[in-house]
Order: sequence, then structure tokens, then C-alpha cells
Amino acid sequence: MHKVEKKSDSLPLYTRAPMAEPIPKYKIPEESMAPDIAYELIHDELMLEGNARLNLATFVTTRMDSQAEKLMNETFNKNMIDKDEYPVTADIEKRCINIISHLFHAQPDENPMGVSTLGSSEAVMLAGLAFKKRWQRGLKKSGKTAAVPNMVMGSNVQVVWEKFCRYWDVEPRYVSMSPDRYVIDPDDIIANIDENTIAVVATLGTTYTGQFEPIKALHDKLEVYNKEHGTEVTIHVDAASGGFVAPFIHPDLEWDFRLPLVTSINVSGHKYGLVYPGVGWVLWRSKNFLPDELVFRVNYLGGDMPTFTLNFSRPGNQVLGQYYNFLRLGHDGYKRIMTQLRDTASYLADSIEKMGYFQLLSHGDDIPVFAFKLKDPNSPFTVFDLSTKMREWGWQVPAYAMPPDIENINILRIVIREGFSRDMADQLLVHIQEALNYFLKPSYVSTDQKVAFSH
Ligand SMILES: *Cc1c(COP(=O)(O)O)cnc(C)c1O
Repeated sequence: MHKVEKKSDSLPLYTRAPMAEPIPKYKIPEESMAPDIAYELIHDELMLEGNARLNLATFVTTRMDSQAEKLMNETFNKNMIDKDEYPVTADIEKRCINIISHLFHAQPDENPMGVSTLGSSEAVMLAGLAFKKRWQRGLKKSGKTAAVPNMVMGSNVQVVWEKFCRYWDVEPRYVSMSPDRYVIDPDDIIANIDENTIAVVATLGTTYTGQFEPIKALHDKLEVYNKEHGTEVTIHVDAASGGFVAPFIHPDLEWDFRLPLVTSINVSGHKYGLVYPGVGWVLWRSKNFLPDELVFRVNYLGGDMPTFTLNFSRPGNQVLGQYYNFLRLGHDGYKRIMTQLRDTASYLADSIEKMGYFQLLSHGDDIPVFAFKLKDPNSPFTVFDLSTKMREWGWQVPAYAMPPDIENINILRIVIREGFSRDMADQLLVHIQEALNYFLKPSYVSTDQKVAFSH
């Protein structure tokens, strides 16, 4: 009997040609390969990246129900912009906007408006543009000559605001933090406003410490300022991280459309909205705050539907994932999750403080995010050393410098997300303690490996 040459696809997987040879990385390969080989090659390489669930740097969702994953897999091929072809997806987007408008206390008789976006970054660009266009209109009406628009905010804003200002030619006016205050001082904001201020920005859940900024206090001072100066400056709230936390565990905190001068809000669906990356929302308290020239109309069921986006095609499945969460969890489910995350964050913060080497900058009870620094300025190790050491167990705990003016304060930040159990929190504490034991050995010498700040 002669030996029959085996068909290539029945050979053991890792003995087939592409597995045993270098693969082209920077040029498209000449030949095709079997799908299971392509899958394994990429899947295996990605193992090097570590486990997303152990990434305590990101605010972005790393766990969803398997049913949500199934639904989102089934709907990857729907394009969010094709409202006419996918009218059900378009309708579900509208429902989500209504649900979020209600959560943020928009008043139906004021004609609230909103759109879904790729994330808060696109949402911020759109909100900022609306402010700029409105200001330009006012400038034209008043017959004034060209002026430079400005926006007033804290130096602690997320980097997307700096980007907005640079891309759309708006002067950013940053007010400072201080060594013991990591949110804006409303008086500093007011002091920087003038007749070309297109908006002031306040953050509900800052990127650095997770704290809420004093939005109500800012609002009340701005009301007085506007009255005294005959101006109509309004507030945009960057609720990227806090917009799906505050309504459930801080229901009495007034930060949203309950405040008349809050005219637009952005929120990331993919942060505490609990959806995988790719969805955000921006809402206006009234369509009067969204200039018509920014709105384009697309076909929808024979009529037309207003859209306001920077890009055209975008997957529709994230919006469906958002709706799944609203339907599946309801108000009670979100409230239970956010309560649990806050309790876990506060437990961790307290436990880390008790270790004796750290000082908390925040405690994780605004949003479930907290930051801490080293107590001892002459500590034998730095926060960067600790961050690097934690990677040995697979944890990603970012260390970074605070914003300008207090940039000499280096901190570690921990973001607690859905899918992080009390048991994992205890594992994390064990590893932080082990790292401390290692650093406190007399033989230890700091290597101070700085890691980049991750928003
Ligand atoms: C994450 C974040 C952003 C950017 O949002 P993306 O959804 O990641 O685009 C903006 N502002 C704040 C306060 C954030 O936390």
C-alpha cells in the first residue's frame, strides 16, 4: 500500500505551512490561507496584550452578558447611517435618546434633541461645534467684526477638549487645580468669562480622580454673572464617565437639565452605560441650542430624519447593545450595579489607605474610580515602580502626573468596572501588599519606569 499524502487541512493545525513559517506583516500576502489558521495566528498574538478585565486603567466596558454579545454579533453588519434600510435600528436609537433624555431630566416641552456617536469624543466635537455656530450667529447679528471664541474649563479636562479647541480654532482657557483640590473652583471659571466665551465646561467624574465637579455652584454663579453682564453663557457637562452613574446612585445631585443653564451633555455608552467600545451620546436640552445648519437630513421611511455626525458609516450594533442593557437591567439593575461598584471601590480605597503608605486623593464614591499617591516624599519606590510591578501579576494599574500646576503630584488610579468582584478586589490587595514587601526590602533600588497616562 502506498502512503497517501494527507490533505493539508487535515494536518495538525500548528504543523501546517503558515504556522511554521514567518508570516508577512507589512505587505498583503500573495496567497490566501485557511480561515482557522488566520484566526489562530491573530488570536495567539493578541494573548501578549494581557487580559482586558485586569486593566484597571480603562473606563471602557470589558464585560457584557453573553446574550448581549450574541445580539451584537448578529448585528455587526448593520450600518447606523442607513436609517431607511434599517428603520428598526434607527427607531431603537431614538428610544435610547429618549431614555437618556429622561434620565437627565430633559423637559419634553423644550424639544430636547440628541444623537448617538462613536463615543464621547465625537459627542464633544458636536457639542462644541453647536456652541461655536451659535456664537458666530450672535456675532453676525451684533454686527461686530471678527473675534476669537473661547471656552473656559479646568486644566483637568479630558484631552478631547484640547483637541476640540485646536481643531476648531477656539481658545481654551484653563483654570488651575491646587495641591488639595482636583476639581474646578467656580469663581476661577467665572473670572475667565468674557463676551466671546462660547461655553463653560464642567466634568461629572474627572479623568484624574473620578470626582464630580461643583456643577450646581458653578451654575448659580453663572446665573448671576449673566444677569449682571447681559450675557447668555451656558454650561456643557462632560458626563462621559458619570452620566450613567449619577442618575442611579446620586439621584438628588443636580448636575443635569434640572439646571436651566446646562444646555448640552455628553455621555459615553461604552463606559458606565456598560456597552463595548463604540458608542456615546450627546443631548441638547432644546433644539434651539443646535443650529439648523449643522443638521443633515437622511432618508427614513419615505420621510427624512435629522442627523448630526462627523463620520458617515458606523456599526449599528453598539446602539443595539445599549438598548439591550436598558431593557435587561432597567433602573433597578443599573442602580444595583453602580451601588456594588461604588462599594467595591470604597472598600479598596479604605484598604489601600490602611496599608499605611498611601494617601487617597479620592475615595471612589462619586464614580467608582479613585486615585492615591505615596504618603512619604522620600519613599524608596515611586508610583511608577508600583505600576510596573503590578504587571507581573497581570494587573494594569496606571501611574501618571496630575495636570499642569500640580504636575509634581504623581498618582495611581483604579477604575472599578462591571465584572470586578469582591474576590478580585481581595486578590488585588494581596498583590499590592506583596509589591510593598518587595519595595521595602533594604536591597531594593527604584528603577522609576514611567508608564504613559491612559485616559
Ligand atoms: C473618556 C472620557 C472622554 C472621552 O470619551 P470617549 O467615549 O472615550 O471618546 C471625555 N471626557 C471624559 C471626562 C472622559 O472620561
